[in-house]
Amino acid sequence: MLTVRNIRVAYGGTVLGLRDVSLDVPAGAIVAVLGSNGAGKTTLLRAISGVLGEHRGRVEHGEITFDGESLLSRSPAEIVAAGVVQAPEGRRIFSGLTVTENLRIGAFGKRDRSATAHARRLVYELFPILHDRGDQRAALLSGGQQQMLAIGRALMASPRLLLLDEPSLGLAPALIAQIGHIIADINERGTTVMLVEQNAAMALGVASQALVLTTGEVSLSGPAAALAANEDVRDLYLGGD
Ligand code: ATP
Repeated sequence: MLTVRNIRVAYGGTVLGLRDVSLDVPAGAIVAVLGSNGAGKTTLLRAISGVLGEHRGRVEHGEITFDGESLLSRSPAEIVAAGVVQAPEGRRIFSGLTVTENLRIGAFGKRDRSATAHARRLVYELFPILHDRGDQRAALLSGGQQQMLAIGRALMASPRLLLLDEPSLGLAPALIAQIGHIIADINERGTTVMLVEQNAAMALGVASQALVLTTGEVSLSGPAAALAANEDVRDLYLGGD
């Protein structure tokens, strides 16, 4: 579904964000991308979503395709329209707007009303709290609820491939587990997921495949279960237990 081939990304012409990254996200999968701070995880998502230019970054080499079509020359809005939608990291939601207004923004530009209604039903099924608190300002939600709103907003665009940037960031362990279950649920209902995470335990628990980014390169990749059993991954990302 998504292929990334030999991508090289530079910021401001010199700092290398990604050196030579290739990966595949097959339809129906959950693919986890692990790596420590500065490894290039966010850069990879920006390249796929077409927003590198907003950060003075540029793809210098390589190709990214979705269903065989190149994404590299497309605008961020065209990439969303093609079905590739990123939920913002942490809780970059519109805190001054209500929950319902935030969700409506997720469907902005969508002409297909029945698809939007379907997406809204799915969001309320997955996150009943967003329905119950629809009239409240997003700023009043708890951290976990704001994360749910960020994911819900992305789902309102009816993605075929959902990109998640650190959905566990700043959440207590019980909430991280809950977010993990929700990601699995979203996937089972038909959305392919690429999950960028520092929380390797959660990510490897829900993913089918995974890869580790190290200083802008893929240092390991394979079935998530194989990575979870890998000694280096256990030492570096799973606390060595
Ligand atoms: P984190 O989890 O801390 O966000 P990351 O794995 O997402 O880390 P990136 O943010 O993609 O890593 O950073 C990869 C490299 O690119 C780092 O060396 C970083 O300093 C550099 N970088 C990222 N954004 C920019 C930018 N806007 N301008 C210059 N360099 C950048």
